[in-house]
Amino acid sequence: MRWSLRTQIVGLVGAMLVAAMGVYLALATRVVTADKEASVYDVNALVAGTVAQQVGRTVDGIADKLRYFGQEYEITPGDAERRARSLFDADEAVLSLEVFKRTEGGFERSFLFVDNKRLAELNLTADDLTEARKRTPAPLEAVQSAGLVLQNASLAPDLALVRLSSATADGRAVVIADLRPEWLLSAVSTGHVYKVFLVDRLGRVLAHPDGELVIKREDLSLLPVVKDALGGKLARGTEEYEANGVRKVAAFARVENGVGAVVVEVPRDEVFKATNELTRRSLLFAVGVVSLALVFAVLLGRRVTRPLRELQQTMMVISRGEFGVEVPVAGPTEIRSVGAALNEMSRELVRRSEQLQKTNAQLVQSEKLSAVGELAASVAHEVKNPMVGIVGFAQLGQESVDHVEIQEYFKLIEQDAFRANKILQNLLEFSRPPEMEIEALSPNDVVMGSMALCVHQLQMQGVKVDTALAEGLPAIRGNSNQLRQVLLNLMMNAGQAMDQSPKKLITVSTQTVEAGFVEIRVADTGPGLADDVKDMLFKPFFTTKRRGQGTGLGLSVSRTIIEAHRGQIRAEGAPGAGATFIIRLPTASGG
Ligand code: ADP
Repeated sequence: MRWSLRTQIVGLVGAMLVAAMGVYLALATRVVTADKEASVYDVNALVAGTVAQQVGRTVDGIADKLRYFGQEYEITPGDAERRARSLFDADEAVLSLEVFKRTEGGFERSFLFVDNKRLAELNLTADDLTEARKRTPAPLEAVQSAGLVLQNASLAPDLALVRLSSATADGRAVVIADLRPEWLLSAVSTGHVYKVFLVDRLGRVLAHPDGELVIKREDLSLLPVVKDALGGKLARGTEEYEANGVRKVAAFARVENGVGAVVVEVPRDEVFKATNELTRRSLLFAVGVVSLALVFAVLLGRRVTRPLRELQQTMMVISRGEFGVEVPVAGPTEIRSVGAALNEMSRELVRRSEQLQKTNAQLVQSEKLSAVGELAASVAHEVKNPMVGIVGFAQLGQESVDHVEIQEYFKLIEQDAFRANKILQNLLEFSRPPEMEIEALSPNDVVMGSMALCVHQLQMQGVKVDTALAEGLPAIRGNSNQLRQVLLNLMMNAGQAMDQSPKKLITVSTQTVEAGFVEIRVADTGPGLADDVKDMLFKPFFTTKRRGQGTGLGLSVSRTIIEAHRGQIRAEGAPGAGATFIIRLPTASGG
């Protein structure tokens, strides 16, 4: 992935939070909305039902009285006005009363009573009522068949009037009352959100919190809820519909005596105002939480990436060759361990580069040595010829004089020159380029050959060299030059090790330890070997000698040579007990 770690952390945290908040909000809103919806539907249905019952009871109450009055009037028409007053004394809404009697041609009004006092209180006159009656006549035939009809008889611009017509039980008379609408309006009083209204059986407004609609006798028959209330099979129900661009949640209940239906409606937005507000606030809260989390994620990302950047910069510095640079070990655990590992790597690089420099210096030194070796070989070659002359002339001198003492001197010259010649011969052989010629060799000859090279030098250092060579040893197969080089090295090391020792003795011995193998031992009486030195002896460049004195290559080269001869070399000897180097070589015939 190409995005930075910080972007990934921030993105991941952000996405997770947005998803979690989104799911939570969606679920919470759904639960709350469903709950609210259910409760609003219930409340609407309950209110519609209760109000419809109330309206039914109220209407029935007045209608019963009207019927009663009609019957009484039929029996004793006289004194009707007084009776009307006393009968409707408690029903303050009643403004006028009429009785129509059935005649052959139809109905004929036979009684009219108008309560002028009540009209005066409302600033109305009897003429207003007459006008209203003219405009909205009672459907007398229909009243007779239905038994009861409630009408809106309002007169524009400000007369709100309701007309209740009721037929007597025998059907011979219809009694009509004009009523102030408040008696119905009290039943449809409403809160500012809930609207309760009453429509007649044709769907026109009978009572409504909006007085205008009452006076205009608004026809609401096209409202879906009114349609269902009047024409549907169910007497009660709930529904949602849209009117004038406003979505409404509504319930209806038919009034049992058939005068119309009660409708309760509430704008959906109003119902869900609190829910929507809750959603809005939750959304704000979620945005706040997500933003806060993102800020934390950015800070966290920085906490992680800053040490990483430091690590990267340090690595760049190291890659430029500045070893030993370290980063502060800080930050989270993982970063700290990476930092510690980087520091360790940096320190290791310093160690290695130092070792490399040391190795380089030693290589230069061994180059120098080999140059010196070559020089020594050529010097030996040059000196050899005059030595031959010295030997020859010494022999000649011996023969030329009679004086015994002088003859003795010449003999000494001859012997020493001969020995010098021999040393030069060995030196030359040794320094010759390695011929990997393998031949059968006598182990004792190899020992003697190498001793001849260094015994004089050792004697000069006060070191005595003893030999304990076994007789009749089997031959070994190898390169005499290389094997002599190994022994020479062991003896010179022993001589140097005994520099400070009171007793300076090297014992070179040969023997067969088991069939097929010959052992050559070089033992000294020096300081012996400490354990840590013993572990390192054969490693290249290990030396305890002063700079310029040892290369640390002698024993490692020796081991390479012996192993090339399919043999082994090891060292024994505790501190203070002298050191013994043991070479084990297979014999030519077996091993
Ligand atoms: P160098 O002689 O150049 O140091 P070598 O590989 O020959 O290298 O020897 C490595 C080291 O082994 C010497 O520096 C010395 O410390 C130790 N060593 C070798 N021979 C002996 C010995 N006979 N007694 C004690 N220490 C020895």
